Amino acid sequence: MSIGVGYGVLLGLAFWVGWRLCQARPAIAPWVSLFLAAGSALGVTIAFRSIFGHRLELERVLESQREVLREKEQRLEWALAATGDGVWDWKIQSGSIHHNHQWCRILGLDDRFLEHALDTFEQQIHPEDKPSVMERIRRSLETGEPYASEHRMLRADGNAIHVVDRGNIVERNERGEPTRMVGSMVDVTERKLAEEELRETNIILEEQTARASTLAAEAEFASVSKSDFLANMSHEIRTPMNGVIGMAGLLLDTQLDPLQRKYAEIVRQSGESLLGLLNDILDLSKIEAGKLELESIPFQLAELLEETAALLSVRAAQKGLEFVWAVDSAVPRTISADPGRIRQILTNLAGNAIKFTEKGRVSVMVRLESRTETQVILRFSVQDTGIGIPPEKIKGLCQKFVQVDASTTRKYGGTGLGLAISRQLAELMGSRLEIESVLGSGSVFSFCASCGLGPAEGIPDRKVSRKFTLGGNGGKFRILVAEDNQVNQLVAVGILEKFGLRVDVVANGLEALRSLESLPYDLVFMDVLMPEMDGFEATTRIRDPDSPVLDHRIPIVAMTANAMRGDREMCIAAGMDDYVSKPVNPREVSTVLERWLRRGGAKAQAPSRSAHHESLPPVYDRTALLERLMGNETILAKVVKSFADTMAGQLTGLEEALATGDAIRSAQLAHSIKGASANASAKAASVLAAQLEDACAASRLQEAIEVRPRLVEAFEQWKEAAQGS
Ligand code: ADP
Repeated sequence: MSIGVGYGVLLGLAFWVGWRLCQARPAIAPWVSLFLAAGSALGVTIAFRSIFGHRLELERVLESQREVLREKEQRLEWALAATGDGVWDWKIQSGSIHHNHQWCRILGLDDRFLEHALDTFEQQIHPEDKPSVMERIRRSLETGEPYASEHRMLRADGNAIHVVDRGNIVERNERGEPTRMVGSMVDVTERKLAEEELRETNIILEEQTARASTLAAEAEFASVSKSDFLANMSHEIRTPMNGVIGMAGLLLDTQLDPLQRKYAEIVRQSGESLLGLLNDILDLSKIEAGKLELESIPFQLAELLEETAALLSVRAAQKGLEFVWAVDSAVPRTISADPGRIRQILTNLAGNAIKFTEKGRVSVMVRLESRTETQVILRFSVQDTGIGIPPEKIKGLCQKFVQVDASTTRKYGGTGLGLAISRQLAELMGSRLEIESVLGSGSVFSFCASCGLGPAEGIPDRKVSRKFTLGGNGGKFRILVAEDNQVNQLVAVGILEKFGLRVDVVANGLEALRSLESLPYDLVFMDVLMPEMDGFEATTRIRDPDSPVLDHRIPIVAMTANAMRGDREMCIAAGMDDYVSKPVNPREVSTVLERWLRRGGAKAQAPSRSAHHESLPPVYDRTALLERLMGNETILAKVVKSFADTMAGQLTGLEEALATGDAIRSAQLAHSIKGASANASAKAASVLAAQLEDACAASRLQEAIEVRPRLVEAFEQWKEAAQGS
């Protein structure tokens, strides 16, 4: 172009110069004209060429721009096709809508519908959804807010599909009225169906869950009712059972011919095994209902084992088995755990070991498995040289009611509950019951218990070190209430629980003894008159240093309805520490609780055991007895008479038991003679009875038979001394 302009200027200049030349020299005018004509022709040619060239250039640029645009459009179309979105462009004023191909495809329409009127769009909306869609569009136009709707559209084939439709105003006229709206539409039918399916599945799931939880609740209810039922039944059966056992015991203390004795013995033994079974069932139902909680109490392991072994060694000795127990020296002396439950497992396992062993030895061992600063893990194992267990039977053995020999003609008795309880208790202690056995050679049952470390220097006096404050730390103390009347039980428990104490109730003296043998209590409220065993006898047995209760010095508070003079003295004389009158009232109870839980230790000091001293103590220590009875001669006379009366029967029983070689019965009788003698200050008799008991327990029957006449003699001497005084 610039060449064209330059050339035009040059040509103009040339024409001016040529005109001047022609004026000056007219002769050269034709030549000048020719030259100018040629120049002009050349200029025109150049101009044309330039213009034409520019046009071509322009067209090339335009074409390439068009190409870019086409590519972009194509890319957009591909992208939209890939997203599956249909696009629409609505000219609001004219009412025409332009769509992309995808939009038509979604609705099954052909390309004739790429452009159509709003009416056509309206017709394609599902009639039920139309009002809400049109309302949304109207609102968007009115407010300028983006339009969004999820609704159904009708496809060309008449089927409904679910779409999500969105749009935005993109243009307005000079008055600000919307003139154009552009948007997209997505087919969400599949998602919608999946959602519906999910919703249906959820509903089904919810229904099933609800049904399952109803079933679980019913099962839970059934299980709780079952365990409540079992607990109640066990209690209801236990009370008359105690009657049966107690009465059989009393019967056995009287003069009986051998056959009568045998029958009474069977009644007592059957009663005891039935009671054992009831306790097992009660334990199992408690564990299964999750109601059994382990305690953590400091205690001396060796003492626990000694007490456990004392009971078992009698049975072992009777079968001629050696019974040993040992604690590895690495095991701390004092530990914190649940002694009652450890003892229960050991008694079960060692009881089985004795039952299933004919000759050899049963041993109970404790060793240290691991130790941290605050805890030890101890392994308790019970080994025997008995019949062993076939390997294929070991696995299922810890299930309820499973026995290796389940035949009706089996040799060994039992219910198959002992191992199930032991396994569950071991599991509560965070361990497993492990069984190793070789058929014909013996078995080892073991479990671990994680125990806290007790104080280094033995156990401090529990009652002195812990203070009782009403409503405060009462929960740490455990109280036993022995009371047969249910109304009184409720009253006592109600009051004690109000003070935040843990309370267990038993219905008579025998049950009280059982409880005191298995759990460490801090105080006993003892009804005086109870069936089976009254409060006086229970107290005497508790105070007997050789009875298996855990704490012989536990404070015992009498509860009596007979507020007569002398009652208090009677209770104190029997070895009780304090007294509340019935009906019990909170003020009185709180006074004795504060007195005994604060002060600790009962005053009653039971006679110490000196069974193996050859030089015997005096046959009768009247001074000591009178001192214990606080100088009350009347009570002394009663004690003397009652001891003299019961002793005769017991000595005869002992003679018969020894004659028939019944080591267990002999040991039991010697045991109760020992306690009763100590109580009546028949000290020599008590020592001899202790010797006799030891001999029976170790199956040294000959030795026992030799000691017996000395015991009878000591009793006769006591009688003489006591009745003469
Ligand atoms: P029970 O002894 O009352 O039958 P347990 O649950 O204590 O019930 O024991 C289940 C079974 O396991 C026993 O019947 C016996 O077959 C077997 N068993 C247990 N301990 C031993 C053992 N030390 N030696 C051999 N078999 C044993």
